[in-house]
Amino acid sequence: MTAQFRFDNSYARLPEAFYARVLPTPVAAPALIKLNRALATELGLDPDALSTPEGVEFLAGRRVPEGAEPIAMAYAGHQFGGFVPQLGDGRAILLGEVVGLDGRRRDIQLKGSGPTPFSRRGDGRAALGPVLREYVVSEAMAALGIPTTRALAAVTTGEEVLRETPLPGAVLTRIASSHIRIGTFQYFAARGDVDAVRALADHAMARHDPEAAAAAEPYRAFLEGVIARQADLVARWMLVGFIHGVMNTDNMSVSGETIDYGPCAFMDAYDAATVFSSIDAQGRYAYANQPAIARWNLTRLAECLLPLLAGEEEAAVAIAREALAGFGERFNAAFLAGLRRKIGLFEAREDDPDLIQDLLDRMAAGKADFTLTFRRLADAAGPGVDGPEGDGAVRALFEDPAAYDDWAARWRQRLAGESQDAATRREAMRRVNPAFIPRNHRVEAVIRAAVDRQDYVPFEELLAVLSAPYDDQPAFAAYADPPEPDQRVLRTFCGT
Ligand code: AMP
Ligand code: MG
Repeated sequence: MTAQFRFDNSYARLPEAFYARVLPTPVAAPALIKLNRALATELGLDPDALSTPEGVEFLAGRRVPEGAEPIAMAYAGHQFGGFVPQLGDGRAILLGEVVGLDGRRRDIQLKGSGPTPFSRRGDGRAALGPVLREYVVSEAMAALGIPTTRALAAVTTGEEVLRETPLPGAVLTRIASSHIRIGTFQYFAARGDVDAVRALADHAMARHDPEAAAAAEPYRAFLEGVIARQADLVARWMLVGFIHGVMNTDNMSVSGETIDYGPCAFMDAYDAATVFSSIDAQGRYAYANQPAIARWNLTRLAECLLPLLAGEEEAAVAIAREALAGFGERFNAAFLAGLRRKIGLFEAREDDPDLIQDLLDRMAAGKADFTLTFRRLADAAGPGVDGPEGDGAVRALFEDPAAYDDWAARWRQRLAGESQDAATRREAMRRVNPAFIPRNHRVEAVIRAAVDRQDYVPFEELLAVLSAPYDDQPAFAAYADPPEPDQRVLRTFCGT
């Protein structure tokens, strides 16, 4: 049985300047760690065929499937605010695009598949730890309902990669609506190649904003579409305590999917200033900075699009400004609506932001766990345990439980004005407040077991738990727990 990919490679039909044609470098002894069978099926691929030795050779880049047109995409990017005119896929190769059973076109990309013309001094390889991290976190995001690239497979290569120490090598097969980044636009804009910017915008629009293509001002509509998706995405991140960690413009997809799981992490105790990334000394990409950074990145995109927005620069700038002004409104509305749902409010009242901020301030002061506070609030708001006696589990999360009590009294007063009954409210809250997130100490434990002991049982178990984040799963209740002080992960790494 052979794995049939029905490729239709629209990106490879763009001009040659958009990419470099390059084949994956064969690896010594590929072995399958994990195949995402459900996703394979969604993509119209046969999971059984992909699990055969031949299928695994495709997933490791040892063989190229028929119809693939492997390319490394060119892109630039602002990294921590500094512009790098040429980055590009240095350790990733796009095999091509398939149209899935749902009619959606998706990229199939190998990450860690060997050097490309964009590798600079890198080896084009990926270590096992970061591959498992991306697999776990991207699939957790998908299960949480947050737009994201997906993980189709992870394989070990049978080769070592040299980082600070030799580490087992691995390849991740990443699936994305596209891999077009803000940095892809910057690559051409920086070269003054307006025709290429236009061709890229037309291509991106066809894939992500077909209605914009038909609008009176298509490029303006496209820009507005990207802005709206990013505003919604960052709000979704923050509502589950996610910190991307490296929101460079090359790590922001115009499709609105979360991309590039490097030093990303979910916070445990609530603190708006949380930073995990070891290389983010200034806290540029801290939890609460994410909307401002997204807007900064989108401003870079708007600059690239200026020549397409209007004939006169002044008019183009005015259009870009107006579109960018929409970011704040959209983000604030999405974030506030999400926070309202998190505390069980169905109706909007003017002083809700104040009520919510009061809770967040108390959580920060009391070092309350972000995820558990909201999850347990659902029970405190439900029938039966409603009232102060239902609050025990929530107040226990605060260093000073009395700080919660004061807020809870205020909250209950507000809830009393809602027309929803308590059971409905509880259910609605449980559907937006996950019990399980990929906690850093769990992800680290998974990586340690795999790298140090070739033990993938913790990986499989964590994946299974995270596939149903809104269910209680009593058998795995410990996965909902925050880390003990000695388990706390303080720093995460890009893993390149
Ligand atoms: P990232 O930090 O993963 O967003 O990557 C930033 C840039 O560095 C991209 O152009 C990557 O392709 C490149 N890069 C990261 N790791 C490697 C590596 N091991 N080999 C070659 N290029 C790499
Ligand atoms: Mg990147």
